[in-house]
Amino acid sequence: MIKDQLEQIKASCGTHTTLIAVSKTHPIDRILEAYEVGQRDFGENKVQDIVEKYEALPKDVRWHMIGHLQRNKVKYIAPFVHLIHGVDSFKLLQEINKQGLKNGRQISCLLQFHIAQEDTKFGLSMEEATAFLDGPEFPLLDHIRICGVMGMATFTENTMQIRKEFQSLHALYNALKASHFSSNDEFKEISMGMSDDYPIALEEGSTLIRVGSKIFGRR
Ligand SMILES: *Cc1c(COP(=O)(O)O)cnc(C)c1O
Repeated sequence: MIKDQLEQIKASCGTHTTLIAVSKTHPIDRILEAYEVGQRDFGENKVQDIVEKYEALPKDVRWHMIGHLQRNKVKYIAPFVHLIHGVDSFKLLQEINKQGLKNGRQISCLLQFHIAQEDTKFGLSMEEATAFLDGPEFPLLDHIRICGVMGMATFTENTMQIRKEFQSLHALYNALKASHFSSNDEFKEISMGMSDDYPIALEEGSTLIRVGSKIFGRR
């Protein structure tokens, strides 16, 4: 079951997109089932859960923190996290940098943008992002790596709207790539697409899809 779903979704990803299996709320044995058929990228949205699962699972798992991250909890995931998707403030970025320094590593991050119509979803505006990217302190952060952008579309049946929102994230990525990251090869990821909308995200250039219920079933 898990194996079939993984294979089917991975086949639609092609070679340019990585599938992150969102294992939040699911127990270790189900994650292992996916691991045993070759899945290595897993996503969690709670710090306590990602830490527990990191400790329980093989160390070649790449753990993606996909949820909203509080600054006071960065320290718990800093030693091992593969990619933090939801960076939505400069203060959070500074804290990640501080914990990267403490752990002797560079921590990879995505800037989360607000692309949905709902105002419940977290995320930066382009103005907010460029404000700190152009600021004097940003170049001093040498224990982070900005690897691209992340966004969540509106929860709606309207596929045209979802498509437009993914297009807007891709456009934001292109603009930032040209303005701030043109000489930075690490800035290459567009994290968008979940169980209900990943086929649209793939068509719109997603490089990382975050799929949970389509693999593990309902939460
Ligand atoms: C839960 C979650 C997902 C996966 O959602 P599904 O609809 O189960 O695929 C993707 N991204 C984020 C940020 C999430 O919190």
